[in-house]
Amino acid sequence: MINNISFSGGVHMNEYKEFSEKQPIEKQNLPEFVHIPVLQGTGVACEPLVKKGDTVKKGQLIGSCEASYSSSVHASISGTVVDIKEMFTAEGKKVSCISIENDGTEDEVVYETKNRDGEVDPKELVQVAKDAGIIGMGGGGFPFNVKLNGAIGKGVDSILANGAECEPFLTSDHRTMVEHPEDVIKGVALVVDALNADAGYIAVEDNKPDAIDLLDKTASDFEKITVASMITKYPQGDSARVIDSVLNRKVPIGERSGSVNAFVSNVGTFKALADAYYNGKPSIERVISVTGPGVANPKNILAKVGTPVIDLINQCGGFKGDVVAVISGGPMSGHQIFDLDSPVTKSITGIVVLTREYMDFRDPTPCIKCDRCIHACPVKLNPQVLEKAIRKENFDMAKKLHVEECIQCGSCSFVCPAKRHLAESIKRAINEIWARGN
Ligand code: SF4
Ligand code: SF4
Repeated sequence: MINNISFSGGVHMNEYKEFSEKQPIEKQNLPEFVHIPVLQGTGVACEPLVKKGDTVKKGQLIGSCEASYSSSVHASISGTVVDIKEMFTAEGKKVSCISIENDGTEDEVVYETKNRDGEVDPKELVQVAKDAGIIGMGGGGFPFNVKLNGAIGKGVDSILANGAECEPFLTSDHRTMVEHPEDVIKGVALVVDALNADAGYIAVEDNKPDAIDLLDKTASDFEKITVASMITKYPQGDSARVIDSVLNRKVPIGERSGSVNAFVSNVGTFKALADAYYNGKPSIERVISVTGPGVANPKNILAKVGTPVIDLINQCGGFKGDVVAVISGGPMSGHQIFDLDSPVTKSITGIVVLTREYMDFRDPTPCIKCDRCIHACPVKLNPQVLEKAIRKENFDMAKKLHVEECIQCGSCSFVCPAKRHLAESIKRAINEIWARGN
């Protein structure tokens, strides 16, 4: 095991994991309806393969796309297709969704599994990932088949399963590692074999000692797999920070992990890959932490893709206290959910419900030039100077100051004693620069 590793910059913050870290993964109550978005993360949207009135089985392929930068979608329940219409997902993206009314039978498509004992064929693994509709489950939502395909023959030597889960409150990866350590490791071993890599690492923040112990014991049965225990610090879960901590390699700005011969994906993604490869399971459910002070009984729920957010909150006993925000993902980099009927996708890690006492509504005051934002920035930007340029609408200056290199982690806003909206301004500048196309 590798211990006590980290990156430079970042912030220490209250973790608030106690709300749900000890809650075992609970099966979801059968939803009345699901609304399956035909685009789950990034890429080209699928074409629906079903129409209104069709009956579908759980696990049935209901959307696919010929484009390589895409990922399939499957029914997460059995029932009848009642509508296909545009809806907002819980991440706030407007996308066509296939609505299915549950017939309660859980009638399921059983996919054939092949004998998987021999060498791993990389192209076959890519196809398995595409057919199963696996996307990055840490929040990014990048089609896994595209990522894997792009890494074949490119000299990748290290495979990293990202189990940092550095956002406050979230515990879905933690529970996945504690309850399914072997599946996570099997998924990593598959990619190590497929890419002929030298080593695979399960990288976990040291605030999850139970997961680290279990993974370490399990990894002893697997050649080439090592557990890396990282110092708990935000944003350790950013893939470039994981690479820096574990491999001591710096991903050049604007480049991907492959440029330093590394391949990184979330621990849940590797588990989904093992499920698909060994058990023929399509990606139709994922663990979601429904947590925070505004939830009556916080839980980690094995949620069916397409379930309305409100169903998951109700399974946790509903709201509690003076609720002021419902967030998809973590509070540092997540998005406010504005419609509780919106469906969850494969890339949603958690639903965090915050009450008034957990929010800071103070108005910004003038910058006191303390430089805390500079020290906190993991990519070495100067948020204070950037914000000044952006306030003057000087986007050319912001661009010169490398604003586009911001990973939108929010660390600068978090540490600012003047409560300046640094990360928000920077995001606005990036959107403006991209909209202008220069
Ligand atoms: S400038 Fe961007 S990368 Fe740096 S701390 Fe702020 S949000 Fe994070
Ligand atoms: S942290 Fe806030 S107050 Fe301090 S230098 Fe940065 S913007 Fe100014």
